[in-house]
Amino acid sequence: MVYDMTYNPENIFAKIIRGEIPCDKVYEDDHTLAFNDINPQAPVHVLVIPKGAYVNMEDFHAKASDEEIAALIRAVGEVAKIKGMSDTGYRILSNTGEDAHQEVPHLHIHVVGKRDLGRMLGKPKPEA
Ligand code: 5GP
Repeated sequence: MVYDMTYNPENIFAKIIRGEIPCDKVYEDDHTLAFNDINPQAPVHVLVIPKGAYVNMEDFHAKASDEEIAALIRAVGEVAKIKGMSDTGYRILSNTGEDAHQEVPHLHIHVVGKRDLGRMLGKPKPEA
């Protein structure tokens, strides 16, 4: 199956950007919003998103301006600083499409830390 790259403006993060549903904001600038994940997987679990309508990293890579791309990466660094992880370390990841089990179809970068995060990837499930 090919992941649908048509942006759905009714996705939950689009509603957060429009202020229709609340979020626990960590950082914001002209192009970017960062907020705490509703179901944190670590003591720090922040989602960094562009304010523009991009389905995922593929879509962002193809269509975003250099300014938007720079802002997103800078925002990750700001979040690390705000959350006091610049010295202890942290992990960023962005699930893109089906193989990565992306659930929300608006680009988001997970920033997690403040615990030992283990190795990078788990093993795949054995074939049934
Ligand atoms: P994905 O699997 O798409 O990479 O991750 C989606 C993330 O969004 C999950 O970690 C999930 O907990 C988070 N999430 C889903 N709905 C909401 C919401 O309404 N508010 C916040 N803050 N996070 C959400």
